[in-house]
Amino acid sequence: MIPYVTDTPDITIPANLLPADGRFGCGPSKVRPEAVAALAAESGRYLGTSHRQKTVKSVVGSLREGLAHLFSLPEEYEVALGNGGTTCFWDAATFGLIERKSQHLTFGEFSSKFATAAADAPHLDDPEIIAADVGTHPTAVVSEDVDLYALTHNETSTGVMMPITRPEGAAAPADGGGLVAVDATSGAGGLRVDPAQFDAYYFAPQKCFGSDGGLWAALLSPAAQDRIGAIAATKRWVPSSLDLTIALDNSKLDQTYNTPALATVFLFDHQVRWFNENGGLDFSTGRCDRSAETLYTWADNSDFATPFVTREQDRSHVVGTIDFDESVSAATVAAVLRANGIVDTEPYRKLGRNQLRIAMFPAIDPEDIASLCACINYVVGAIAS
Ligand SMILES: *Cc1c(COP(=O)(O)O)cnc(C)c1O
Repeated sequence: MIPYVTDTPDITIPANLLPADGRFGCGPSKVRPEAVAALAAESGRYLGTSHRQKTVKSVVGSLREGLAHLFSLPEEYEVALGNGGTTCFWDAATFGLIERKSQHLTFGEFSSKFATAAADAPHLDDPEIIAADVGTHPTAVVSEDVDLYALTHNETSTGVMMPITRPEGAAAPADGGGLVAVDATSGAGGLRVDPAQFDAYYFAPQKCFGSDGGLWAALLSPAAQDRIGAIAATKRWVPSSLDLTIALDNSKLDQTYNTPALATVFLFDHQVRWFNENGGLDFSTGRCDRSAETLYTWADNSDFATPFVTREQDRSHVVGTIDFDESVSAATVAAVLRANGIVDTEPYRKLGRNQLRIAMFPAIDPEDIASLCACINYVVGAIAS
């Protein structure tokens, strides 16, 4: 259990130890000040204008092109956008991507939620669920029965990442194998991925893309687009706000079916441009790699902290989970950090561990992760004395 914090010790962290930016939350996460300034500079021409006109459509177009470039998408892939964030995309997928039965790898809160959505959908068969203990991840198993494999690139609730590959021995979707659909909400942009290994790679922009929530983006292979068309042809009832054919048709026109949050679109595009102008996915994932190296090395060498995830290759480079030993209350440390302007290091509530959870998304400066480690050392030392 997380110890209940009654009062926060009055500890002031010396200014020279503090990170330049104190936001380490896993979503909404740090939005770069440069992006906010760019939005403010454009606001008089952009905010409060029609999303059906060129000003906004050109930003949506730039975003779609930028994502295709960032992920080196083959020509025939499409970038689709819609409203409602990843949670709405799950619902859309239960209507428009899963034909009859899906297989889900569950290893934490988020991966389990999509499995539940599929299990609850009355028009689908019960899904196959392959679960693993928190702190680890399961492996997909080829099944003739399923038409979609649901993977999660990074389980944000536990800090476990997994490589994205088609299940070993699976037929290609064109030859009757299941589609591979990946929840990459916290992984996309921060972890490497090969588009040949997925059919739908979907995410929302409030994590690695340093924007706000409320939008989803999905990178769709030709097989995924075919599936969307094939299900539509069966006349399955789909609410129009969750209809992937409508989303795809609108996306191709650089718009969304209904009004998107224009600031979210702008900040998302700004971040994708920042990645692409500095070297693309190598640049953005490289920043996460450096932050992760710093965080886990610090925890490994600490006498009170240890990485929660045991296997080194499973330790996420975008979300770090660090267990504290009993002598130190992580909740108290998080509260002291918060009082000093370092926010959102609290653990995922339902995991219920004595730990801190720290985002290492590309916007977060690797130097600030080093500063955060120094601040934690300082706070723990001050609480003990
Ligand atoms: C944050 C997160 C979600 C939920 O995203 P919303 O846009 O809030 O629906 C889903 N999956 C993962 C892996 C996440 O990190």
